[in-house]
Amino acid sequence: MKKTETPSFLRMLKTFAKESINFIREGAPMCSEEEYKERMSLCVECPNYTDKSACSLCGCHMPVKAKWKTSECPDNPKKWSRLTINEKEAAAIKKKAEEARDAKIASNLKISSSLKSLKERGKE
Ligand code: SF4
Repeated sequence: MKKTETPSFLRMLKTFAKESINFIREGAPMCSEEEYKERMSLCVECPNYTDKSACSLCGCHMPVKAKWKTSECPDNPKKWSRLTINEKEAAAIKKKAEEARDAKIASNLKISSSLKSLKERGKE
C-alpha cells in the first residue's frame, strides 16, 4: 500500500527550493527519456512513493524532480543518484546561456533605441 503522508509544507518548500536552485545553477540539464523512465520505475516500486506521486521523504513531486539531472533520491542508501553532465550537454547549456545573454543585450539595445527615438520625436 502506498504512503499518503509527506513532510511538512515548510520542509517540502525548503527541499524543492534547494533542488530548483541546483538545477538552475547548473544550466537546467534534463534527463533523457530513458534516464527519466528508469528513475520513475524505481520510485513507483519504492515504499516511500505516495499515492500523489510524491516522495514521502522529501515531499517532491517525482514526475518533475526525476526529470532533472541534478536531482537525487533522498533515501539512505539512495535508490538513484544525480547524473553527470557530459561535455556535449555542457557545451549545449553554455550555448543556451550565451544566446539568452545575447537576446537580453539585444532587447536592452532595442529598448534604448526606442527611448532615444521617442525623445527625438518629443523635441520635434
Ligand atoms: S526519490 Fe527515492 S525515496 Fe523517494 S520515492 Fe523515489 S526512490 Fe523512493
